[in-house]
Parts: sequence; structure tokens; C-alpha cells
Amino acid sequence: MKKGDKLVCGLCGLAVTVCDECGCETHELICCGEPMKLKKAKPAKKPKKR
Ligand SMILES: [Zn+2]
Ligand SMILES: [Zn+2]
Repeated sequence: MKKGDKLVCGLCGLAVTVCDECGCETHELICCGEPMKLKKAKPAKKPKKR
């Protein structure tokens, strides 16, 4: 996990952000009985031309 990684629960919407890096490749945090999904910290959103 890298600092800034965000985990989001798809059921209730709970979001957890990684504050400190660790050596693990991934973590399975359980929320609402289901593993939380990793969300990209920096969404590659392209600004629309206008
Ligand atoms: Zn949840
Ligand atoms: Zn870890």
C-alpha cells in the first residue's frame, strides 16, 4: 500500500485513506462484510476544453 491510497466501501461509501506506507502489496479491509475496493488517489481527469 502506498501513502495516499484510498479504499472505499461499495456498500456504505466509507472511505479510508492510507496515511503511512507499508510493505504489503494490498490489504483487504472488510466493511459491511465485504472487502473494500482500492480507489486511485489521483484520478486522471482531463479538464474539458471550453
Ligand atoms: Zn461499508
Ligand atoms: Zn500492510
